[in-house]
Amino acid sequence: MGRLFAIEIIYRGIYQKTLAKNISRAIVLAAHKEGKPGISFGRYGDSPERNGIPAKNFAIVATDDQTLEEGMAKYEPKEVDITISVDDTLCKGVESWAWYGLQPVNRLLKPGGTLIVTSTQPADKLIEMAHRKEYPYNLAIVKGTPSFSGLWVYKDDHTDVRVLGAISKILPDLFSLKSVQEAIMDEWHDSVKAQSAARAHERISAQTVQPNQGNPETPYAFDLPKWHEMGEGIAIPCIPAGAAVADPVNHVEGGFRPDRNPTFKKFSTRTMRPVVDFDTCIKCTLCWLHCPDSCFDVTPENLYDANMQACCGCGVCEAVCPVKECVTMVNETEFKDNSSQWEAWRKDKQGYETWLQDKIKGREERSHGFRYKGQYEEQVPEMLEIARKG
Ligand code: SF4
Ligand code: SF4
Repeated sequence: MGRLFAIEIIYRGIYQKTLAKNISRAIVLAAHKEGKPGISFGRYGDSPERNGIPAKNFAIVATDDQTLEEGMAKYEPKEVDITISVDDTLCKGVESWAWYGLQPVNRLLKPGGTLIVTSTQPADKLIEMAHRKEYPYNLAIVKGTPSFSGLWVYKDDHTDVRVLGAISKILPDLFSLKSVQEAIMDEWHDSVKAQSAARAHERISAQTVQPNQGNPETPYAFDLPKWHEMGEGIAIPCIPAGAAVADPVNHVEGGFRPDRNPTFKKFSTRTMRPVVDFDTCIKCTLCWLHCPDSCFDVTPENLYDANMQACCGCGVCEAVCPVKECVTMVNETEFKDNSSQWEAWRKDKQGYETWLQDKIKGREERSHGFRYKGQYEEQVPEMLEIARKG
């Protein structure tokens, strides 16, 4: 039997769909240059995709047809040589549309396999975010702002070819840089993209992550009902009405917390989360009214606390809030837990103010979507410059 190579690409549904498809397709094309058959496909259960919800593509390559057929007989790979995460906030874990609970980003990696992440963060920060594994694996960073390259209009910042160049260094048995560059020329007819792949190949390096490094928490999970526990026919229960919120200082109750889906959490859906300044909030209710996921808890004093079990990170609350810096979207890599901001503010207002100012200082501009006409033309040269510098 020959050798089978499996690579998964974890991406943000819709925003990064074309990017993930470009990478998985070009992996197969580059391997084909060396006579290796392969196939690239999306994860069946992730369709239809939803904005920002994690999804996966796979590229399966073998040294011969029979090995590929055997590899493809599985529904999807149970282990992979390389996991590519094209958004660093996914290092916290992946809760897809298609399974239940949180999956560690490195879950499918073989012993000694490599996690490739596109990020400007240092390795230590990414290692801290990813769950621990029982055996060592490697981490390699393709340096750059995670690309939210779009679906209908593809913002080509060369992330696709830079990842391909990195793979040719990390897993040279799969394909060489030469094969990658030939596949790029066939597919895109762009020598600058071929150069970007070469630069990423030169600059990428991996470091080993040991079993005692990383997030020690057990990932969020729940038990699926057994077949004999299921009701007859299809029953969709109503959402219960919700309840009041308890003030952690005065121990009075008031306000309103809507009841939420007890099993589908949105911990890994967002790349950014809102940070709320409760001292400057004028209680206008706009964030609460406009939030598409009903995630604001109304507190006993009528403030609005974004509940991190429900927030998908869309940024609507920041956009509608009329008070400057009262709601600020901050990159998800800045947070270690999902606890209530309002509770922290109630317990220590001065401490919360210091925390808030630290979080919102120098926050990067929103990194996905086009906010105004002409942004695409401005950003592409900028991204090409970053890609050139590596
Ligand atoms: S970012 Fe704001 S508007 Fe969007 S889901 Fe979260 S709390 Fe709601
Ligand atoms: S939109 Fe801003 S000011 Fe209005 S209630 Fe929400 S946080 Fe307060």
